[in-house]
Amino acid sequence: MEILKLKPVFKDYIWGGTRLKTDFGFDSPLEKLAEGWMLSCHKDGENEILNGKYKGKTLSEVLNLNRDFLGENGKKFEYFPILIKLIDAKNDLSVQVHPDNDYAMRVEHEYGKTECWYILDCDENAELIYGFNRKIGSDEFKKRIADNTFLETVNKVKVKKGDLFFIEAGTLHAIGKGILLAEIQQNSNTTYRVYDYGRLGADGKPRQLHVDKAVDVTKCEPPKYGTDPIGEEKVFEGYSARLLIECELFKVESVKITDAYKGLCAGESFVSVLVIGGAGTVDGETVKKGDSLFIPAGYGEFTVKGRLDLILTRV
Ligand code: ZN
Repeated sequence: MEILKLKPVFKDYIWGGTRLKTDFGFDSPLEKLAEGWMLSCHKDGENEILNGKYKGKTLSEVLNLNRDFLGENGKKFEYFPILIKLIDAKNDLSVQVHPDNDYAMRVEHEYGKTECWYILDCDENAELIYGFNRKIGSDEFKKRIADNTFLETVNKVKVKKGDLFFIEAGTLHAIGKGILLAEIQQNSNTTYRVYDYGRLGADGKPRQLHVDKAVDVTKCEPPKYGTDPIGEEKVFEGYSARLLIECELFKVESVKITDAYKGLCAGESFVSVLVIGGAGTVDGETVKKGDSLFIPAGYGEFTVKGRLDLILTRV
């Protein structure tokens, strides 16, 4: 069994910047890199394997051949359960919402989306939209979109590096300009755009809104959660670790290695290793900032060495 190194897929959405090139060193013919899909089996952007005997195959193909790589937890899902992205917002993203599984399966034939954001860096006064600033009814929701006063109802939050936002399906949200983040989410690309600041798309027309579907799925209330990771930072010999979020869909940890760390990839889940800083090795495989590894379930113990800042995700 071997560790799979993944080739990211890039998206040049209009709001994106160039920090994935300048900060992460990614090479792409695209001018802007809004998103890097770092762990993806989604049809809209599948990772290819860069190393070893599966080189050139997609991760989906490898997992179809080796269901055990998913682990017992991963096999419970009908489709590959998660999607992990790096996002560089040079400009504000549209205000949006995602449906839950029941609604999405019925209407869109894919999973709904619960997601979380881990803020990697941001401009000094960067802010984002997270839920509403008070409870509103669906009539007011529609009226305020129609008369362009929608932003008066949203909850704007100033962000700082290290914040963690847990965005359950149905929560209104928008990443604001000047924010670089890692997003761990359910494997879905269903987004209902609620408000787009009246901007025009690449074709010179306003981008489509999905107000009716958004009204169906949005919880029109303030968010239930704070903006801190759920765990405290724990310092061990050679590394420190902090639990960022744990829910029924995924468990995400920040691990900072100063010397060496031993992790376990047991039968329950694969481990996604996303390198967000530094350089080193994972069981001898050289890694640096921007690399993404998939360690199959059942691989056993793996050893990370060097000075590395990692995000580890399990299901
Ligand atoms: Zn979203």
